[in-house]
This record gives sequence, C-alpha cells and structure tokens, in this order.
Amino acid sequence: MRPVSSWGRLSADPHHVIELADRDRVAAELARASGPGIAHGLGKSYGDASLNPRGILWSTRGLDRLIAFDAATGRLTCEAGVVLRDIQRLMMPRGWSVPVTPGTQLVTVGGAIANDVHGKNHHIVGTFGEHVRRLRLVRSDGESVECGPDRRPDLFAATIGGLGLTGVIVEAELQLRQGAGPWLEAETLTFGGLDEFFSLSDSSEGGWEHTVSWIDCTSGAAVRGLFMRARPAPAGNGRWRERRQRMPFTPPVSLVNGLSLRPFNALYYAVNRRRIGPRTVHCEPFLYPLDSILEWNRLYGPSGFFQYQSVVPRSTGLAATRDMLDAIRRSGEGSFLAVLKTFGQRPPAGLLSFPQPGVTLALDFRNSRAVPALFARLDDIVRASGGRLYPAKDARMPRALYEATYPGLAAFARHRDSGMSSAMSRRLMGS
Ligand SMILES: Cc1cc2nc3c(=O)[nH]c(=O)nc-3n(C[C@H](O)[C@H](O)[C@H](O)COP(=O)(O)OP(=O)(O)OC[C@H]3O[C@@H](n4cnc5c(N)ncnc54)[C@H](O)[C@@H]3O)c2cc1C
Repeated sequence: MRPVSSWGRLSADPHHVIELADRDRVAAELARASGPGIAHGLGKSYGDASLNPRGILWSTRGLDRLIAFDAATGRLTCEAGVVLRDIQRLMMPRGWSVPVTPGTQLVTVGGAIANDVHGKNHHIVGTFGEHVRRLRLVRSDGESVECGPDRRPDLFAATIGGLGLTGVIVEAELQLRQGAGPWLEAETLTFGGLDEFFSLSDSSEGGWEHTVSWIDCTSGAAVRGLFMRARPAPAGNGRWRERRQRMPFTPPVSLVNGLSLRPFNALYYAVNRRRIGPRTVHCEPFLYPLDSILEWNRLYGPSGFFQYQSVVPRSTGLAATRDMLDAIRRSGEGSFLAVLKTFGQRPPAGLLSFPQPGVTLALDFRNSRAVPALFARLDDIVRASGGRLYPAKDARMPRALYEATYPGLAAFARHRDSGMSSAMSRRLMGS
C-alpha cells in the first residue's frame, strides 16, 4: 500500500498499486486481482477518477512502448501508458502530430481516451476519441477485447470517455495528423465583456486552429480578458529552448487566497498585454504553458484545490457564464487562471464524453470552507442552463447532477465491467 494523490491533492489515501509493464501479462494480472480496481495513468485528473482508496490501482506507466507506425498513413499503435509529449516530440520532426492534446501533454494515451480529452482546437478536430481507430481492452475476467468505430462500436463508444470503467486499455491505434509542425503563428487580443469574447470566438473559429481565453475573474461585470489564437506556421527562423522550473515546496497555506487573487490577476493581465499582437511561437509554451512549472499544484498548500469546469450550450452560454462569474465574485473566492473557450459543433465520440457544443469555463479554487456553498450555486446555474461538469476535473459533483446531465449513462451501464471501480464511480454511479 502506498499513498496516491491526484492532481488536486485533496487526499493521499493508501492504494494497493500494481505496476503493469508487460502488455501480454495484463489479462493474467487482472484475473488474479483480489477485488475491484481501476487503471491509473499519470494521475493528472484533478479529482477521484483514477483513485480507489485502500483498493487496487493498475498503474499503466510501464506500458510505454510504441508498437508500430505506418509513415504512409500516419497510423500509430502504442501501449496505453505512452505519454502524449513523447509521441509529439518523436513525431513532429517527422511531419505528424497527435491531433488532440489537453492543456498538459503530460498525460497517457489511456487517460486521454478514458476522459475523451479536448484541446484548444476542439472546434476543428473534436476530441481525442475521434482519432482512435482501434483499441485493445482487458476486462477484469481476463478477456482481451478489440474494439473500434467499426468493431464492437458500442463497447468502443462506452470506453471513449468511459473513465476506465469498461476495462484496462492496453494498446491503441491512433490516427496522427499530417503537416502541423511545432511552430505556430499566434496572436493575443484583449477583450472587455462576454459579448466581445463570443464575437472574437465566432470570427476566429474559421481561420484559427487553436483558440482559448484567459479571463480576470475579479474584474467585475465587464469581464476583461485575453483572447489567444494560433494556427500552424512554417518554422521560419524560430528557436525554442525548453525552460523548466519546479514549485520548490508546499506552502503551509494556499498562496491563492482573497489577498493574492486581485493583484495576481492584475499582474497577469499587465504582463500578457505586452504580448498583444502577432508573433511566431513554439507550440509547447503556447499550448501547455503550465508544463514548464513542475508541481505547480503545490501552490494551493496541503489542503489541495478543486477545479470546476462546466460546459453550457451556446444559447444559454452568455447568461450562464455571467451568472457564474457573478456568484464567484460575490463568494470572495476565485482563480488565478480562469479559462473560457467555445466548443465546436461535433457529435460526442463517447457515451459519457464531456464536450458538447457551447462554451466551457474552467476555474481553480483553493480547498476552503466557501467551496460547498459556491459550487452548489454554480451547479444550479449549470443544470438550469442545460450544461454539465467535466469528470476529469471533478471531485465532488452530486450524483443527481451527473445523472441528470449525462444521458448516455443507461447505455453505458450495459458495458460496465463490474471488476472496475473508482472513488468517482462509487460517488457518481453507486458502485
Ligand atoms: C494542467 C492540466 C491541464 C489540463 N487540461 C485539460 C484540457 O485542456 N482538456 C482536457 O480534456 N483535460 C485536461 N486536463 C485533464 C487531463 O487531460 C485528464 O485528466 C487526463 O485523463 C489525464 O490523463 P492521465 O494519464 O493522467 O490519467 P489519470 O488521471 O491517471 O486517469 C484518468 C482516467 O483515465 C482512466 N485510465 C487511465 N489509464 C487507463 C487505461 N490504460 N485504461 C483504462 N482507463 C484508463 C483512469 O481510470 C481515470 O478514470 C488537464 C489536466 C491538467 C493537470
């Protein structure tokens, strides 16, 4: 048994961690398990999706081999513990890239499938699951099953975004994307007010592959923000050197608090305003800015932190976003990094996929006494607006909210592997 935390560091309960390292032995390993367990990638989910306190965690980090690559078609077969950054750094110089990467590329292929992750280019390429051509899943009884869009499509749709609850993904075949090199033509614009954010989103989605906004959640009714957009650029004479820092210690209390919020947001705005206008950037600092500060999650002190990420339909998006920001401001809590982005009109790849057409808002909150009442208020707004919350970021959503907002749940239940169970599945599905 050893303590395991997820990215939010809200708990560090002991787990019986079993390291999977040989893909041909996974079936035997699962079949001899003494109780239900759950797959664990790099633990970059914020809440309890990949936790199973006092129970089994099948760690996939040792399943890190690339199996085959067809340079003519861009099909890559790899084990599920391969980290997206490793694929990107290997494949980009060869003219191929992973079509969808989240805001950190330090996640595994299995984790990216099981949360059906999205990136800043959702409006162009959709979610990770749309680019999976086949996967091999090992069920808790030791059965090894192949599925894909054309082979056992129901099980495949349950596994995409299925939170690890249909079995352990051992390997996957991904369709990489040709052409996009590591350099981006990027532009930062300021906006004042949500109307302006939506109009910038509308006018950018056609010609810009990546769009994302930072908003100052302390800025009052006329929300100020920075709209960042980028598209592939030729290398030019760009040069980039990776710079890494590490949060050196865990402070005794959260450094994010009522006193620091306003000055930090003002500083972030002032520093980034200087970058207004077009520039050529390497994709890593643009797409994954937080990857350069290792263990930045320790900033929130020993009690950890929550992320609250919602999506609401476009028709209700403006009012819902305004109401949520209002509620947050009134609570005195808030986020250093509040992210706002529109999702494109794409049908969901998985039965439990989070993205839906609309607007997504993501904010981090220190773990404080104000959180339960504030989140209950935000839940009401999200539910009344026809939206939902993202399980990858969640540690406390009430089961009733999950059931009401994920209509694919009944169909999903038919494919659930009863030998797979996490703290999240018990909280949201009862087992
Ligand atoms: C800084 C930061 C930024 C982020 N930005 C985004 C973003 O922009 N968009 C986005 O969509 N997400 C984002 N995320 C969330 C992250 O992409 C997801 O939580 C992702 O699933 C984490 O992958 P992981 O390998 O760490 O998996 P874990 O967190 O370890 O596990 C996640 C889920 O996948 C399951 N799982 C893992 N491996 C397997 C396997 N082999 N077989 C079956 N199930 C498996 C687990 O059981 C669990 O349910 C961000 C996270 C961080 C920390």
